[in-house]
Amino acid sequence: MLKEIGLGTGLAAVIFLALSGYDITPLLFVALAAGMLLYLARSRGMLAKTFNTAPVVCRQEIGFGDIGGQNTAINELKEALDFINNQDKIIKLGIRPLKGILLTGPPGTGKTLLAKAAANYTDSVFVACSGSEFIEMYAGVGAQRVRQLFQTARDSALKQKKESAIIFIDEIDILGGKRGQNASHHEYDQTLNQLLVEMDGLQVKDKVRILVLAATNRVDMLDPALLRPGRFDRQVKVDLPDKSGRMEILRLHCRNKPLASDVNLEEIARETFGFSGAHLESLANEGAILAMREGCTEISHRHLVEAIDKIMMGEKLDRRPAREELERVAVHEVGHALVSEKIRPGSVSMLTITPRGQALGYMRQLPENDAYLYTREYLENQIQVLLAGSVAEELVLGDRSTGAGNDIEQAIKTAGQIIRSGMSELGVVDPDILPADLRYRVLNDIIRSQEKKVKEFLGSMREVIKHVMRTLLAEEKITGEQFRALTRKYLKTV
Ligand code: ATP
Repeated sequence: MLKEIGLGTGLAAVIFLALSGYDITPLLFVALAAGMLLYLARSRGMLAKTFNTAPVVCRQEIGFGDIGGQNTAINELKEALDFINNQDKIIKLGIRPLKGILLTGPPGTGKTLLAKAAANYTDSVFVACSGSEFIEMYAGVGAQRVRQLFQTARDSALKQKKESAIIFIDEIDILGGKRGQNASHHEYDQTLNQLLVEMDGLQVKDKVRILVLAATNRVDMLDPALLRPGRFDRQVKVDLPDKSGRMEILRLHCRNKPLASDVNLEEIARETFGFSGAHLESLANEGAILAMREGCTEISHRHLVEAIDKIMMGEKLDRRPAREELERVAVHEVGHALVSEKIRPGSVSMLTITPRGQALGYMRQLPENDAYLYTREYLENQIQVLLAGSVAEELVLGDRSTGAGNDIEQAIKTAGQIIRSGMSELGVVDPDILPADLRYRVLNDIIRSQEKKVKEFLGSMREVIKHVMRTLLAEEKITGEQFRALTRKYLKTV
């Protein structure tokens, strides 16, 4: 406001002087020079700002006890961190200090949590940043930020009277990708070089000992110079949790939530194969939100089960398909469920015709045990379950629909997996040099033979499909138990 008044008064004075016959040329020169100086000062300020995105220094209250399902990773990490804690022994034995630890694994598995817990465990200052923060259009800014990062770690440790600092770089693949690949400019390479220089400069006798922890999902993208001994010479794998890990994580995230007595976390853990820690945290949270929406004071088992669907498939949609379309969706899902139950009794967890995310309806299978290896028979059975939806539509309604597009895509992928793993009639082959027509024929044979089996089985089940379809249309959603009660006597006779 004051600025505007000043400007207005100045301008009025200049006009007055000009009208009174004074020569205002020197005044105009002075104003121009002042404007240019102001502009330069501002742009320097902006430049200074680009250098000034300070890394985040945070206090850590997270300990290894707050991380579930990662015992192997925690033990490996602790072993490495003991180097920091036993400094005297290290110096006596002449051991080279550990400079970097790389945490690798899928998103949301707890890599950031592990880094925070590591800072707590070693009583270090924790400085966090992400690889993307180093990449700028301006040459030299990234390298400057790397220097600033290490300096911040040292200064913060001295200020807090700590002897060590942990620098955590998330998404290191962005800044540490293979050099020479970004042809447009060398900014990436300069930034990486600076990181290597800083790491090489770390000494065991430094006043503040620095350990760099970095996380990535793409270790294959990293420049080999980063992985050589003396830099990130330890790699800790942070994998998706197994069933007992999932249960531990669920327990951790339900600690502060009122659970009803019917909640069976073991069952939830069993149904969530492939979920990361972040998914499980979200599951517990969504369960609580659903309970609140219903006005409950406790979270029941069904809230957590519904939260699984929400996380897997997305939010429920208000879209209400026409009756005919609903019937088709129901027939499709019952087809999947019948074949799944025939192949592995007890495998159907739930089927519904409520649209969620991209799906108009879906059937959820209960994973038997966490499986990491699949036999040919298992994969063929999966193909049968996938094809069963559209086969049921054809048998009961006379034709198929586009609703099976995703199933077919997956069935073809699974058949490709059989070929790639050397389990097809071709034996062990290199799929990349397989002639296209031969690959097509074998793929086709696998799919057709499974489709034939499904047709034979569901062909005798038309009435059962219609029977379950009617219940599903009335209820919208039926559990595995309800489904088995409805179909038990028919499936027994097969
Ligand atoms: P990204 O690779 O995407 O950066 P990340 O592996 O670093 O992911 P985190 O940021 O550590 O994952 O985890 C995200 C959230 O998920 C955590 O704040 C926590 O709530 C939950 N979480 C993830 N893994 C675990 C775990 N093992 N135990 C408990 N909670 C977990």
